[in-house]
Amino acid sequence: MSDINRRTFIIATSAAALTLPHLASAAEVLQSSDPIAIALGYKAVAEDVDISKFPKRAGVAGAEQFCSNCALYKETAAGYGPCTAIPGKLVAGAGWCNVWVPIS
Ligand code: SF4
Repeated sequence: MSDINRRTFIIATSAAALTLPHLASAAEVLQSSDPIAIALGYKAVAEDVDISKFPKRAGVAGAEQFCSNCALYKETAAGYGPCTAIPGKLVAGAGWCNVWVPIS
């Protein structure tokens, strides 16, 4: 490897090392243990929702509710995306919370 190529490689890998952690932390995945998740009844797997506490997800109509078909969700990564009700976090498309809004 020439000095120029070696220098270019070092600069490129250093830039990637500085950039990737920033991108990874730009939007965290919402954990079900997060206080806002608890308040909204959010679960990353909708079937884990306690329907005795959140009857909105009970029954046939409730069982068809997921973040992936909520009007407040926009998938941006495989299976995850931001939710306008929970700014700064990614929610799971397979998840659900009590704010679920049908797409009109
Ligand atoms: S508002 Fe919609 S997209 Fe956001 S967490 Fe609740 S069900 Fe999922």
